[in-house]
Amino acid sequence: MLHKDRFASGLCGKSIRTDQRWMTPVEFVTVGSALEDPSWENDIQWDGKPLSLLIERKILVIHSLLCKCNLCSSTAKDRHDQDNDDDCFICRSQGSLICCDECPRSFHQRCHLPNVDDAMLGDKLPWVCTFCVLRTSQLWRYPSQQTYQEALTCQISDHLLECQYLLLCLYNADKDHIIVADPCINVRNYSSVIKTPIWLDRVVEKLQQNLYQTVQHFVSDVLLIFTNCATFNRVRLYYCSIQCEDSGQHFLKQILELC
Ligand SMILES: [Zn+2]
Ligand SMILES: [Zn+2]
Ligand SMILES: [Zn+2]
Repeated sequence: MLHKDRFASGLCGKSIRTDQRWMTPVEFVTVGSALEDPSWENDIQWDGKPLSLLIERKILVIHSLLCKCNLCSSTAKDRHDQDNDDDCFICRSQGSLICCDECPRSFHQRCHLPNVDDAMLGDKLPWVCTFCVLRTSQLWRYPSQQTYQEALTCQISDHLLECQYLLLCLYNADKDHIIVADPCINVRNYSSVIKTPIWLDRVVEKLQQNLYQTVQHFVSDVLLIFTNCATFNRVRLYYCSIQCEDSGQHFLKQILELC
């Protein structure tokens, strides 16, 4: 994915985001191409057109060699600042964001789950997001013989990480913020149709207040969000097509398959 406002030249501006990281066009073409001597202008395409054409049409503008902007700066800090997203991965707005040291995601401290306290952040301390914690821990944390039914009966404290991960996935997938806030406030006639309203912010609140005992309680509330949506809209919202990372994680995959 090429981001126009991060583009400065082949060597400056980490303007291309892959799932793993942000790269300059030269880095991208060097890593991704099997060609002997790849050219970023001709070999990287955007919407079927080589970048050289976008530059010719002034859709992409090459910064001058003397440019003093942050993208063109060669200091380690300015280059490091380009390693993460400019928007919060959860709410998609900007502001003061914390950056994961293992992936390109950024978050507001209150948007990430669990919420991040200032005490957990220090200049020297690495900080790793829930997506990366789950990815690195799933190999050893859960024996694969645990079935979905068994997982449901577990104490929520044993699966807190997965629950937080699922919620983050749902926030990120809900691009139109349909299931985030209390629908009774903004949607006309909602409470007359839906007797048991529930929304993502409320599930987070209940999780933080330890109101769920087993995974089953939590899963029921998450599923109720979708059932309510379907009932109110009379159509199914296909959130189950959510592009869930780490799809091998059986526990979450099966929750999503139920939606
Ligand atoms: Zn510049
Ligand atoms: Zn946010
Ligand atoms: Zn991460």
